[in-house]
Amino acid sequence: MVAEQLVPRDIDDSRVLEAMSIVPRHLFVDAALASHAYQDSSLPIGEGQTISQPYMVARMSQLLELKGDERVLEIGTGCGYQTAVLSRLCRRVYSIERIESLHERARQNLRKAKHANVMLKCGDGMLGWEEYAPFDAIIVTAGGFASDIWLEQLKDGGFLLFPQGEEGNHRLIRRRKQGEQVMDEFFDACSFVPLLEGVNHR
Ligand code: SAH
Repeated sequence: MVAEQLVPRDIDDSRVLEAMSIVPRHLFVDAALASHAYQDSSLPIGEGQTISQPYMVARMSQLLELKGDERVLEIGTGCGYQTAVLSRLCRRVYSIERIESLHERARQNLRKAKHANVMLKCGDGMLGWEEYAPFDAIIVTAGGFASDIWLEQLKDGGFLLFPQGEEGNHRLIRRRKQGEQVMDEFFDACSFVPLLEGVNHR
């Protein structure tokens, strides 16, 4: 996966490549899909949601430019795979998922993969996680439009990375907060499951 899908594209951060080669992606998908876990595509994880393509996980991780000492907020835990990759790149990951059953599954997956520096919560990520704010970086793995609360909970100089746009037609945006100023950089066109409000007790 790393040699064929990441290195030939533009993933050159050695820490990201290392994390991607260590985290066992097959532990995060259903047993029936385990043989497809390392293919170059997204996969269903239940409740109509998907685990992102490996390249997109690596790409987003690289764009955060993590050095190792950061506290990162993730919106959209899903199966917990991106969470696991991030947990190898920073000090602590705080991850929020709105669908209860996925939140529980991510907890089990992360336990199996032995990731200790992760805090999970079932809730509406649009509200951020006030208790632990401000964060050095915020990453959103569902597509839509940014909540103002995220910028409020981001440290000065930090990145907010999110897929912006209408359903199925997103662009990766890296927003930097610098004092009163906000700067956007635009990256890959992509397609994510939608960012939705509220909690789903399924
Ligand atoms: N990073 C995940 C991707 C999961 S797909 C992985 O590696 O598996 C995106 C997830 O975002 C879905 O599980 C969806 O339920 C969740 N989501 C959408 N809107 C949300 C919100 N407002 N708060 C928290 N999670 C949300």
